[in-house]
Formats: sequence, C-alpha cells, structure tokens
Amino acid sequence: MDYQTFFRGAVESLKAERRYRVFADLERRAGEFPHATWHSPEGPRDVVVWCSNDYLGMGQHPAVVQAMTETAARMGTGAGGTRNISGTNHPLVTLEAELADLHGKEAGLVFTSGYVSNQTGISTLAKLIPNCLILSDALNHNSMIEGVKQAGCEKKIFRHNDMEHLEDLLKAAGKERPKLIVFESVYSMDGDIGKIGEICDLAEKYSAMTYIDEVHAVGMYGPRGAGIAERDGHMQRIDVVEGTLAKAFGCLGGYITSTEAVVDAVRSHAAGFIFTTALPPAICAAATASIRHLKASTAERDGQHAQATRAKAVLANAGLPVMPTDTHIVPVMVRDAEKCKAATDLLLAEHGIYIQPINYPTVPVGAERLRITPTPFHNDALIDHLAGALVAVWKKLGLPFTRQAIAAE
Ligand code: PMP
Repeated sequence: MDYQTFFRGAVESLKAERRYRVFADLERRAGEFPHATWHSPEGPRDVVVWCSNDYLGMGQHPAVVQAMTETAARMGTGAGGTRNISGTNHPLVTLEAELADLHGKEAGLVFTSGYVSNQTGISTLAKLIPNCLILSDALNHNSMIEGVKQAGCEKKIFRHNDMEHLEDLLKAAGKERPKLIVFESVYSMDGDIGKIGEICDLAEKYSAMTYIDEVHAVGMYGPRGAGIAERDGHMQRIDVVEGTLAKAFGCLGGYITSTEAVVDAVRSHAAGFIFTTALPPAICAAATASIRHLKASTAERDGQHAQATRAKAVLANAGLPVMPTDTHIVPVMVRDAEKCKAATDLLLAEHGIYIQPINYPTVPVGAERLRITPTPFHNDALIDHLAGALVAVWKKLGLPFTRQAIAAE
C-alpha cells in the first residue's frame, strides 16, 4: 500500500479548497522590531511585520532577553524532566508565584503552551466536577473547544456573547447541577470583548463556575497588565483565569491561576501537565522579567493603544474596510479567500509588508481578512506606509473601498 498517497491527497483537498497554508521564513532581529528578514525564494529581504502577537515587542526587550541569556548561561538549556521528575526548576516556581500575584489568585500553574493550558485545564476541571455541564461561547478558541470535547461531559454552546441564550441554558440546567462557563476576554479575530461582568452575574445567580481565556489581553489591559477582568474590576469574581506567556509577554508557555484547591487538583490530575517536560528555566526567567516589567510600566500598553488607534483612523480614512473594534486588533475585511492570499503576496513582494491572510476555518467563509496588530514600535511613518500599500493593493485587486472613500475620490 502506498501510504504517502493518503497524505498527499489530504493536502490536495486543502489546496482545492484554497485553505493550504504557506509559511513565510522570517528571521526576527533583536532590537529592530518590527523589522525582520524574510528568507524569500530569491534571497533575504527586509520586511515590516504587521501581524505579530508579540503585541508589545517584549520578545526583544533588553531586560527580557538578558534574563533569558543570563539564566541559560547559569542553568543550561532544558528543564531536564517532567515536573515530577526533576523538572520543577526554581525560575518556574518563581514564575507561578508571579502569575498568581498578577491575577490576585492563590496559586498559578504553568503549562508548555496556552493551547495545552486550555485543552488540559478545561478537560481536567470538568472531569473532576461530577455531572458537569460545560457552557461554551460559540467563538471560543480551538484549544478550548478541544478541552471541552476531551472533557467528555455534556456541553451546550451559547451564541457568541448572547446573555439571553446563556441564561436560558443555565436556567434549563437548574441551580443544583454543577456548571462550568468557558469564555474569552478579547476574541482574537473580531477583536471584540466578552461580557465578563454579565457572565459573572449569571454565574452567581445560577451557581456556575467561570473560566476565562485572557490570552489576548494579559500584558495589554488593566493597571498591572492582568487583562480585561482586571481593567473592569471583575478579577475576583472569576474562578479560573487562563493566559499565555507567548503573546504580550513575548516568551512561550501558558498558565491557569485560581484557588489552591483548583490548582492542586489540576496539577495532580491533568495528563497534559504531568506527562510532559517542564518549561526550561531560561524561558521562565524571561517570562517573569516580562511580567514584572509590564506590571510596573504602562508605557508599552499606552504606546500600543495610541498606535492602534492611529492605525485604525488612518486606514479607515483611506477608505479601507476596517472592522471597528474596542481592542488592539485591527481587522481589514477582504471577504474572499483567494484575494486575501493575493493581497498578502502583493504586500510582501511589492511593499515589504508581512501580514498573514486569515481564511476559513479560522474565520467563516466570506469573512476572510487581514488581521493587523500594531505595536508601540509601528511608528507614524510605518502606519502611513501601510495605508499607502494597502490602497495600492486594493486598487490592483479591484477590492471595494468604503462608501466615504468612493465619495472622496
Ligand atoms: N487561546 C486563544 C484565544 C488563542 O488565540 C491562542 C493562540 N493563538 C491560544 C489560546 C493558545 O495560546 P498559545 O499560543 O500560548 O499556545
């Protein structure tokens, strides 16, 4: 049997559906963020990256880089084992305490990624709650969906941010039945925000437990960078706060924070935590340096907010179809998979701008877009350059401008 044909076939079908992904070979250059080298088929080229989740450039912050290099020089590279088998290194223990403090919780638990923290965290929690019913927002990230599936208990999906629907489901389940509501704070593709306060009200009314994914908000919002729940004063009302060290904190890894009882139970039962090697000390030290810096400094958040606001205004004024958002995420709608990919290719080849196309299944068919994430390092000149490049690409591809721009022409 030719097994290879199965795999080639699996890829061919993605290509036929125009969902085949091509990765750009990028080399980030510390100290030059957001500039990077693109190793194109024709050779290396300088590009400006406009879609990084290193939202604040902390992955290249001198204090963070120094913490990583100094710790690697002192402690070596790997952790040397799972948490139970000699992998629990001192920088990791320090990091967990730092995270608990960030979210005002009793304890923190670090996983190898945000993906794993959701998948194994949600499934373990739900398995430990007898007869648990999971209520999950329809736009939750794939890692949460996988966690819900792996939990194996009954689940109900509530329409995105629809509090009436959530209440109906809670009411039908009854106050006595144990329930876990899982949702996000910043939804990464539409850049909208979960109704945290209202969800907490309902959770209290119907005696449900709450689990929030603050992956796109930690480091970015709140006086100490703990996220939207901190900003809006709901942190103490949420049972489990999950986050990543890989986006605004610029490193790698994921975590949950909660009560001692929850963290101890997950630590003791979660296969995705127990049976994998712990994060290396150098990464933990770098993450701690990043969290501590952002707890004390608001300059990065303020700079990011200012540049995101400016970018939205400049792109909208140029007649580009910017989806309005309350967050740092700037979606520019293309609404066609092929043109979305073509726009990316043109931006890269003709303008030295790198923006990954966002196509199905990340967003629904017809909602294809460029997802732009300005950082404090995308200065005014770079924003103007981006706007000019997008307008040129829009014209070349015959993509529609908004009504104001047509009127202005
Ligand atoms: N949750 C959400 C909402 C995400 O968007 C992502 C990744 N993009 C994750 C979790 C996973 O985080 P990580 O990249 O740290 O695995």
